[in-house]
Amino acid sequence: EIPIDEDQKSTRLLYKQPSVLVGRTDVVSVTPWLAPIVWEGTFDPVLVDNIYKPMNLTIATTVFAIGKYVRFLQDFLDTAEKHFMVGFNMRYYVFTDRPHDVPSVNLTRGRHLSVIQVPGSNRWQEISARRMEIIQTTIERQIRREADYIFCLDVDSKFHARWGPESLGRLVAVIHPGYYEQTRDRFPYERRPASTAYIPMDEGDYYYGGAMIGGFVEDVYTLTKVCQTRFEEDAGNSIEAAWQEESHLNRYLLYNKPSKVLSPEYLWQDFKAKTKEVKVIRFSGVIKNYADVRPN
Ligand code: UDP
Ligand code: MN
Repeated sequence: EIPIDEDQKSTRLLYKQPSVLVGRTDVVSVTPWLAPIVWEGTFDPVLVDNIYKPMNLTIATTVFAIGKYVRFLQDFLDTAEKHFMVGFNMRYYVFTDRPHDVPSVNLTRGRHLSVIQVPGSNRWQEISARRMEIIQTTIERQIRREADYIFCLDVDSKFHARWGPESLGRLVAVIHPGYYEQTRDRFPYERRPASTAYIPMDEGDYYYGGAMIGGFVEDVYTLTKVCQTRFEEDAGNSIEAAWQEESHLNRYLLYNKPSKVLSPEYLWQDFKAKTKEVKVIRFSGVIKNYADVRPN
């Protein structure tokens, strides 16, 4: 809480004076289209909370737990309650084919969870593909009436530190932790011109991770709709993009620039050692045995 000066009989916001000269110099914190790139040290968390909390926003979080992936829900939800948009109204939408295996989690005030049953699948590529479609139809059915912002997250992950309203924006993407030090010709974009996800070697901004999409509900709705249509168009031509929805997401974001970009602090991988520019890991993918959790 920012201290309120009672003598003033009005609310005062007391925090460190911002500087135009002193700040982080070891990382780039703005894109060439002037969207912020969010790193620790580029924002004041107390100030950011005090700006967004009075807006009484509701945040939707979609998460898929199909087949054996239900085992990741407990840690995902427990750690989200500790670190993710703390103090905000939250609506989790859990999509699963095993509703009875969804753990009961103690949610703090203003936070709700609904379980939505969806079919299972024998191909993980298909599960990945259907996420876009299911998010889209659920936005149509309920989310657009129930929330202001939405985050679509991978379930095989945990929160470790604050992920707050500094992440809110019209269209928000996260930089994949595996490729941020590479040149764009090395990114695993879809490289076959026959695919609607095609990105030539001399194009591309960053390689965005498919484990997080965020933004205003309507902007994410449009994204999922476009990606879904292109995915189906590819399927009609018997082509599946290199990294399924992640490839389509990257193609979409190249021509529809995100208004905010989250640094790899917001999407790390547990097997990867922390690098010097990453001061805090906020969210990371857990190490999993693919043979053990995937249907094939
Ligand atoms: N998923 C699922 N069941 C599966 C495969 C995937 O529920 O059998 C969902 C789950 O939410 C997972 C996401 O799809 O987090 C992406 O798949 P995965 O995490 O396996 O991809 P990776 O992060 O390893 O590329
Ligand atoms: Mn994952």
